[in-house]
Amino acid sequence: MKVLAFGAHPDDLEIGMGGTIARYTSRGHEVLMVIATVPNRKENRIHEAEEAAAVLGADLVVMDIVPDELVFSREIVRRFDKLFNGFTPDVVYTHSNNDSHQDHAAVTNAVIATTRKNDCSVYMYEQTIPGGIAPNPFHGQYYVDISEAISPKLDSIMKHRTQLDTYGPWWLEGIKGRAMNHGFKINVKYAEVFEVIKDIARW
Ligand SMILES: [Zn+2]
Repeated sequence: MKVLAFGAHPDDLEIGMGGTIARYTSRGHEVLMVIATVPNRKENRIHEAEEAAAVLGADLVVMDIVPDELVFSREIVRRFDKLFNGFTPDVVYTHSNNDSHQDHAAVTNAVIATTRKNDCSVYMYEQTIPGGIAPNPFHGQYYVDISEAISPKLDSIMKHRTQLDTYGPWWLEGIKGRAMNHGFKINVKYAEVFEVIKDIARW
């Protein structure tokens, strides 16, 4: 299976679905992580993202869109279309369309436009941590047991040293705690959960 995962910034994918990525790659599936923009400390953060993707066993593309140009526009959809057509994914992941960060929402609007008529499943991961308020609740429907992948998930986040310096160890505890909370809902140790935009039966 080919999995295309969109994140606006370095570290968004690791926080939202790092365990799911590690679970895919450990089972021999191909995952391409896409970072739309790098808002600051570019050299450091691209290097951190490369290290994190390596921990998860995924490939990485840094689109490096100018931050002010990351808006829901024909130009961004065209760029996403090109990436999509070059990779031909079976499954696509993106931010929640209710995420409070404008860059996250812009990426998801463009992903929804890009995938509007393709035969791929599309899922959204939760509001990134740290994250603000969102007007509508996240309605998690699709659960992935990441008990076997909690270590690579946390290891990949720890590669983002600039962010760990900024947010401190509580940041990591919060991300782990959320995975534990979701784990209880499906009777496993750790889980990640997604909202479904479209889920295509493969049988
Ligand atoms: Zn972000």
